[in-house]
Order: sequence, then structure tokens, then C-alpha cells
Amino acid sequence: MQNTASFWVDQFGREKRKLRISVTDRCNFKCSYCMPEHPEWMKKKNLVSFEALYQFCELMVQGGIESIRITGGEPLMRKGVVHFIEQLQQLKPLGLKRISMTSNGHYLKKYALALKQAGLDDLNISLDTLDAEQFHKLTKNNLEPVLSGIEQAQQVGLAVKINTVLINGQNEDQILPLVVWAKAQNMSLRFIEFMPLDGDAHWQKQNVITEQDILTVLATQYQLQLQTQGSEPARRYLLDEQYEIGIISTISHAFCGSCDRIRMTAQGELYNCLFATEGLALKPQLDVLLANPNVDLKKQLQQKIQQYVWQKESGFDAIYAKKQPRKISMHMLGG
Ligand code: SAM
Ligand code: SF4
Repeated sequence: MQNTASFWVDQFGREKRKLRISVTDRCNFKCSYCMPEHPEWMKKKNLVSFEALYQFCELMVQGGIESIRITGGEPLMRKGVVHFIEQLQQLKPLGLKRISMTSNGHYLKKYALALKQAGLDDLNISLDTLDAEQFHKLTKNNLEPVLSGIEQAQQVGLAVKINTVLINGQNEDQILPLVVWAKAQNMSLRFIEFMPLDGDAHWQKQNVITEQDILTVLATQYQLQLQTQGSEPARRYLLDEQYEIGIISTISHAFCGSCDRIRMTAQGELYNCLFATEGLALKPQLDVLLANPNVDLKKQLQQKIQQYVWQKESGFDAIYAKKQPRKISMHMLGG
């Protein structure tokens, strides 16, 4: 059941129900489609504390947010993240329905059980190839810890979904192997089109493996049936009436018309769209509110966020057409 009206609504009437919080920009991988070659990490003193973040989440849930996803960088690299997830459980009686995480899976063997015990509802793991050499080329790290992390996550009973970004000339040969593997593991799989959010801005349209490219490959082995789409960005296909995969085709079929998401960076900048060129800096106000919790300050903050959310553009096409330079890439925004 959905909460009544959301306080967080944009000028096109799209209510925000999902909040993604990046807890760090740091990562032990260096996926070329995400991380710049020479990242300049955020300074630790500039990160929003978990105490201030909790207070922010409470405000957002009170306004209608129903789902919070913890991401990064690599979220498991931020000390205290498991405890933060445990704390977020207190927001469930206020309307929060799901607490999720997106991770590269490298540290999962160590953290899977703790995450399950902290009440994490679901976990997306990014895995772009099953070929160890290709994996190393793409991420500059090793495949094995990710595979054992996934195994551990399944053993402790976490609901795992695999996310795969396909890049032309790098891993498009992995479409069928990943489907066969994920189906055998009984895990959901979603392919994601490469978006112009890479750290070094080398993105080119010809590097995108589109939904249609993926379907063409799948059709050589499976009968495909498009499923009815809900509020999720992925278009779902049933393969041989048995196994469902999803495709997030932001480039070839932008789903902006029903976007219900907002995002915050680890430094406390709120972004009303993945492609927004400007965020809203909230850390100073969150720190003041934490030191001096009072109703007026909370109201001011609420109005500031509401105004910024209201200004959300219609979508990717509208923003991309302006060709304004971006200050931020995926490793800071969290996907
Ligand atoms: N480090 C974690 C991980 O890799 O899952 C969480 C952060 S990562 C930025 C979140 C998601 O963004 C991953 O699934 C990743 O594949 C995806 N991603 C990163 N850069 C992308 C891009 N340029 N286009 C599409 N997806 C991208
Ligand atoms: Fe790290 Fe995730 Fe970006 Fe890869 S996609 S560099 S794992 S933050």
C-alpha cells in the first residue's frame, strides 16, 4: 500500500518515493564506465555523518519516501554502514518499506551475514562478466571475491539481484553466459545501458549496447515475451516462459516520465535527477539541525528540499540537449 500524497513532488506531478544515498565516493574497483582515471576523493571531513544522514532520512520518509537504497562508490568501504542500516529500521513504522544496497560484492563474504541481521531487504550486485580476465580489465580487481560474496549472500538468505552494464567492444559477449549463470543460481538479472555518467566523460553513443541489441542476441536462444511494466525502470522479458530478465534502457527508452527517484551524494548534495547539472548542498543545514534540533529549522530545510525537487527537469533528453558540463559522475552519485 502506498502512502498518501508525497510532499516531494516535481513540476510534472511525479511524486518521489525512492531515495538513493551514496555514503562514499571511494571504491576499490575502477570501472572505466564509472570512475575517472585519477579520482580526487571527497575529504572525510566533508562527508555527512551517519547521525545527520539518519535525521535527513527521517525527514524524507515523513514526506513520503518509501524506499532507501544505500550506494556509493563502494558502500561497504564506509565504516558504520551496517549499523546505519540497522538504525534505518526505526523508520519503517513511519512509512519506509524497503532498505536496499547496491554493491560491487567484493567485501560481501565478510559482511553478508551482518547485512542480513541488520535487516537489509535486498541487495543489487554489479557483475559485468564471468570471464576473470575481462573482469580484471573492466574493474582493475578480481572476480573471485565477488563470486564468493554472491554465494555467501545467497546462503544467508539475502535477496540478490545482478546488475550488468554492457559496453560495446568490452563485454557484449557476456549476455548469454550471464543469463545462463543467473538462471542456474536462481537470481534476477538486469542489463543496464551505458549512460553518459563516466568519470572521464568518454561516453559515446556507439559504445552503448542497446535494449534492441540485447534482445537480438537473446532471441537466438530464447522465446521472448515483454511483460507489463510497473513503476520500475526496467522493462522485463520472460525467456521461454520460465525466466525473467530486466533491461534498463535509459538511452534508447528513457523512463523519465514516471521517475520517482532522488539522490544524495556522500557530501550531502541532493540531486533531483541522475543527469542534473547542479545539486542542492544540504550538509551545512543538516549539521546545524543535528546540533540544534528544532521545528523551525526542520521546516526551513523541508521547504528548501521541496523547492529543489519541484524544479526537476522533464528528463534525460531535456537536460542532455542543453549540453551543459557535468560536475559529477556515477561514482559520486551512486547509480
Ligand atoms: N560500487 C557499487 C556497485 O558497483 O554496484 C555501487 C555504486 S555504482 C556507481 C552503482 C551502479 O551504477 C552499478 O550497478 C554500476 O554498474 C552502475 N553504473 C556506473 N556507471 C555507469 C554508467 N556510466 N552507465 C550505467 N550504469 C553505470
Ligand atoms: Fe566502483 Fe561501482 Fe563505480 Fe565500479 S561501478 S568503479 S564498483 S563505484
